[in-house]
Amino acid sequence: MTINWQEEAKKYRDDYLKDLKELISIPSVRDDEHATDEYPLGEGPTKALLKFLSFGKRDGFVTKNLDNIVGYIEYGSGDQTMAMQSHADVMPAGDGWQTDPFTMTEKDGNVYGRGTSDDKGPGLAAYYGLRILKDHGVTPKMKIRLIIGTDEESQWTGMKHYFDVEPEPTFGFSPDAEFPLINGEKGNSTYETTFGHTNGDAYTLKNFNSGLRLNMVPGNATAMVETDDNEGFVDAFTDFLDKNAVSGDIKATPNGIAVHVIGKQAHAMEPKNGVNAGTYMAKFLSQFNFEGAAKNFIRFIADKLHDDSRATKIGAAHVDDVMGDLTMNVGIMTFNEKDGGLVNTNFRYPKGTSDQEILDRLQTVAEKFGGTVKETENMGPHYVDPDDPIVKTLLHVYEAQTGTKDVQPEVVGGGTYARLMKRGVAFGALFPGTEDTMHQANEFQPINDLIKAMAIYGRSIYELTTK
Ligand SMILES: [Zn+2]
Repeated sequence: MTINWQEEAKKYRDDYLKDLKELISIPSVRDDEHATDEYPLGEGPTKALLKFLSFGKRDGFVTKNLDNIVGYIEYGSGDQTMAMQSHADVMPAGDGWQTDPFTMTEKDGNVYGRGTSDDKGPGLAAYYGLRILKDHGVTPKMKIRLIIGTDEESQWTGMKHYFDVEPEPTFGFSPDAEFPLINGEKGNSTYETTFGHTNGDAYTLKNFNSGLRLNMVPGNATAMVETDDNEGFVDAFTDFLDKNAVSGDIKATPNGIAVHVIGKQAHAMEPKNGVNAGTYMAKFLSQFNFEGAAKNFIRFIADKLHDDSRATKIGAAHVDDVMGDLTMNVGIMTFNEKDGGLVNTNFRYPKGTSDQEILDRLQTVAEKFGGTVKETENMGPHYVDPDDPIVKTLLHVYEAQTGTKDVQPEVVGGGTYARLMKRGVAFGALFPGTEDTMHQANEFQPINDLIKAMAIYGRSIYELTTK
């Protein structure tokens, strides 16, 4: 059977947009305060899931809801399963919208609204791709499942539940990232290094605060210091600002000198894109005679973590031919006289090293400063061979549908649902050249991109499941 995918997809435009509008109208933000047995993540995520499943039922598919946190729309039968992993939850709207985030609005060929690009728009495009197959009476040689999670933006509660209660699909893709295709995702591990609270007399560190989240390079740092030499301290700070790529301010208060360093916030996936205000603060403070745990906390950051996104100074650096560099982000640094010091580091690592290896290196170094390290989170690296048919087929479809050539798969430092399947990749739906507004105000997608994605998904499902 020959199907002109682009032409077919266009015929579904109005139906698709009508369904998308309904999905967008459900504010499916995780809401733990209103969690109940019926709605374990709050009402929104479940209601968006049920709405999505109702489209499947309406169009004659088998659907299943697994405990109101994950569900699937199924087509075809067989021993093997091709899965598509999407999600119905969204990030909080936040400020700065020019339209109502939960009323899908068409403007200049774009649709605006929370979820238009992450991930209701792409997930529904994958659904319509499947629907084109069914409406053409195509019989796949295996089972196809569009799995819909409800907690992608936090803990993957629903999608993990699916993998607990259902067998792992044979292969598949997640339409929850960008085109062309992501076949590798670095490992992601987090460590907490803690220090005592002892201090010195000549210089006393009253407190130190930088960073709110593990996965961001902190753009701000504040510290309160007590010393008899206010003048020398202020002069040194002015000098420091002159010589370094940060700005800031300093003032005397009744409690000591308040120092503020301003760097540049960035995502932890590539710490080089930011300027870590916290490690710069430590670097500045390290020239003074602090003592005890305060000194150790400062020196550990300044001497071993500062300006070293590849973690060479702690000896954890690693480069993999295909997955690239290990990266380290120092996301949270705090010290106060009561609780002592805490440094939170997040690593994105390629295959060839491990979270344990990083832990050992970090511990060896931290011990010299009286610090104690604990691993708090880990997900191993994920990599699918570029010669795997799932990669080759999807890239071939992408090239054919977009008229591009020699398109290569990518490795990223972030994580998608695809990593839950041995042969899982992320595929679309953000096209190269289209602005990425995921998680931001005024999130949008060009309607033509979504229709093009629908055609790509339809043909991809066809090629993967009927040949
Ligand atoms: Zn997403």
